[in-house]
Amino acid sequence: MTVHLIGAGPGDPELLTLRAARLLASCEVVVHDRLIDPAILELAPADAPRIDVGKIPSLDPIDPPHRGATQDEINQILVGLGRRNLDVVRLKGGDPFVFGRGGEEAIALASAGIPYSVVPGVTSAVAAPMAAGVPITHRNIAPAFTVVTGHRAPGNAPVDWQALAQVGGTIVVLMGVTHRASIAAELIVGGLAPETPVCAVTWATHDAQVITRTTLASLGNTPITNPATIVIGAVAALDLTSPHTAALRSLLPAADGH
Ligand code: SAH
Repeated sequence: MTVHLIGAGPGDPELLTLRAARLLASCEVVVHDRLIDPAILELAPADAPRIDVGKIPSLDPIDPPHRGATQDEINQILVGLGRRNLDVVRLKGGDPFVFGRGGEEAIALASAGIPYSVVPGVTSAVAAPMAAGVPITHRNIAPAFTVVTGHRAPGNAPVDWQALAQVGGTIVVLMGVTHRASIAAELIVGGLAPETPVCAVTWATHDAQVITRTTLASLGNTPITNPATIVIGAVAALDLTSPHTAALRSLLPAADGH
C-alpha cells in the first residue's frame, strides 16, 4: 500500500498520464487540490472517498473564508492514511514537483516511513503557453525558458528579476498575478524592453480558459485573473493555434535540412 503523489496536468482530463489514470482507477482514497477537474476525480472508484484539501487564495490572510488545509494538515492527512495501509492517490495540479509542494509531502511521508511514489504530470508552465499557441522555445528567437514563481513566502530570498531579465529566452511566471506590476517594472529595470510581448493564460485547458495578450509596460494595468500562467518574451506574440499569418511565416527557418 502506497501513497502516490500524482500530477493531474493543467486541467483537461486527456492530459493525464496513463499511469495516473491506472492508479486512480484502483485507489481507495483520493486527496486532491482545488484545481482538479471533476472529470478526473470520476476516474477513481465511486466508493473511494474524495478529500478536498484545496487551498483557496484569499484576500484576507487573517480570517480567510473557506480556507483549505494548511500544508502541515495535508502532510498529516497523507501520513495518517498511509499508516492505515490504504492505497492513496494524492492528486496535484500540473506536476507534483513544480511549485506543487510535492517535495514537502514526499519528505513528510519518507520521514514517517510510509512508502510513496511520484507520478509526473504535464506542468502548466508548458501546457498553458501551448494552449495559447505560444511555443516557449523557438530556435530563432528563444533558446531557453525560465520558470519562476511570482510569489515568495515571507522569509525566503526574493527572486532577482533584474538578473532574470539578462538570461535571455522566455520567462514563465507562475503565481504571478498579484505582483505582476512590480515584476514587470523590475524586468524593465533589468533591461527587458517595455514593449516585450506578454501572454497570460487563465484556467489553461479548462472550459473557462482566458487568453490575455499585452506588453511588459502594460502588464500591471491589464486585468488578469487566477489561476494564470504569464509568459514573457518574443514568443508570447505568436499564436500557433492559427499559424497562417505572414508574421509567423517570417519566423520559419530557411530550408537548411535541419
Ligand atoms: N504544480 C503546478 C503548479 C502549482 S502552483 C503545475 O505544475 O502546473 C499554482 C500556479 O500554477 C497557479 O497560480 C498558476 O500560475 C499555475 N497554474 C496551475 N494551473 C493552471 C492552469 N490551468 N492555467 C494557468 N495557470 C495554471
